[in-house]
Amino acid sequence: MPQEITTLLTFFGGTGDLAKRKLYPSVYNLYKKGFLKDHFAIVGTSRADLTDAEFDDLVRESINHVVEDEDDAKRFISHFSYLKLDVGDKAGYQDMLKLNDELDAKYELKGNRIFYMSVAPRFFGTIAGYLKSEGLVTKNGEFNRLMIEKPFGVSYETAKELNTQLTEVFDEDQIFRIDHYLGKEMVQNIAAIRFGNPLFDAAWNKDYIENIQVTLSEVLGVEERAGYYDDAGALRDMIQNHTMQIVAWLAMEKPASFSDKDIRAAKNVAFNSLHIYNEKEVEKNFVRGQYGENIDGSQVKYLDEDGVPADSQNDTFVAGRLQFRSARWDGVPFYIRTGKRLKSKQTRVDVVFKKGLSIFGDDIELENPVLSILIDPKGGIEFRINAKDTTSEFKTRTDIMKWDVSFLDIEKTPAPYERMIQDAMNGDGSNFADWNGVAISWKFVDAIQRAWDKKHAEFPNYVSGTMGPKASDELLSEDGNYWIYR
Ligand code: NAD
Repeated sequence: MPQEITTLLTFFGGTGDLAKRKLYPSVYNLYKKGFLKDHFAIVGTSRADLTDAEFDDLVRESINHVVEDEDDAKRFISHFSYLKLDVGDKAGYQDMLKLNDELDAKYELKGNRIFYMSVAPRFFGTIAGYLKSEGLVTKNGEFNRLMIEKPFGVSYETAKELNTQLTEVFDEDQIFRIDHYLGKEMVQNIAAIRFGNPLFDAAWNKDYIENIQVTLSEVLGVEERAGYYDDAGALRDMIQNHTMQIVAWLAMEKPASFSDKDIRAAKNVAFNSLHIYNEKEVEKNFVRGQYGENIDGSQVKYLDEDGVPADSQNDTFVAGRLQFRSARWDGVPFYIRTGKRLKSKQTRVDVVFKKGLSIFGDDIELENPVLSILIDPKGGIEFRINAKDTTSEFKTRTDIMKWDVSFLDIEKTPAPYERMIQDAMNGDGSNFADWNGVAISWKFVDAIQRAWDKKHAEFPNYVSGTMGPKASDELLSEDGNYWIYR
């Protein structure tokens, strides 16, 4: 039996794209599964002028694809209220307080509150401040929690400032920083594969692993997001958050238990040992790229995209080598890369194990065993091993043991947003970014950005539809390695 959760959930940005596409369908799924039943209320708030009926229609429309029973959907929507509030308008929070108290009494919510900030990041601090000063954080509740969208700052300094604003109101264990990659099934599977199999657990270190590769490649170009993307670049848009959070699952120590506290502590051992580069080291360890046209010229180069300045130095591709200065990882490079307009959409991890000395004779060379964890677009696990070639002589070849996520698995798997909302309701921070990790990721990324800002790059430097600039391959070949996914 699902454990019913008692809470009031307030969505700031309640008429926004994210609320409609992801948040309301996720909450409805939790209702259908019985995690939300009688003792819950949802408040949508934004500065849009909407009547309750108009808001109900908006919610009904947004859950259309997951509704199976009309009466059930009606009962669900009856728990929703709309409040028009400009987040900068202090007085409006008194209306919210009144509404919250009414809902608390009506649904017996025990003063439990979750505030979800799905608004532009510049509002995050303002909202947190008013939640406190206007008394919206309850004193009698079992919990008050904050869920916060990305981006969490645009540099270490801005992230720190935001964090200070938030921690004046909420403790670290009440703050749920969303990184939706952490809600993905196959990202969560990393822990199961790694810690669930003594074979991998015991070999997850410098004695057995040659290098680890994390790829987040996209086929699309900048599309309509030039305004945002030309400031952020691949480094801040994809590396600081998603890539570093995946790396943390791979580089972490073995947690003492599978609780959020122990998981964070184990990840922070890794974060704290990450070597932050100086300018010279950035040049040696990081490669930036910007896409040119594709081979037949049917796709424009980044500099010709709408809204991109003609002299933009923005990175649409990043590849780099991370180094952890720890007993576990000393000398093991973690290669990461991400970019737009690459050959295919792939999110994957390739763990390259060391190859053994061949006892089969001088003419037989073994390959590196590789464990690949496929995250997107299709989940799966592949294990490349050395095995016997099927010839009469004794020769070896590599074979791949393979498991694909099935359609049944996909149907059973909650979407990342559903999982994250449920986790936050349960107070489980395992799959959210904690401050220490976010801070170190920013320091790491800031150092790279600073070095790049000082030096002019010759762009474009890769052809759309390829896997990025040549320098990305050279980064690995310098170490005698190569990208497993090519
Ligand atoms: P959106 O522009 O579609 O919606 C913004 C919402 O904020 C609207 O409800 C709007 O009415 C409200 N709003 C704007 N100004 C306001 C004000 N002064 N007072 C009160 N409400 C105000 O944005 P979105 O796409 O829903 O994104 C919301 C947040 O989620 C952003 O932080 C974004 O970075 C993040 N995010 C979005 C996506 C996505 O897929 N859309 C993905 C990841 C992160």
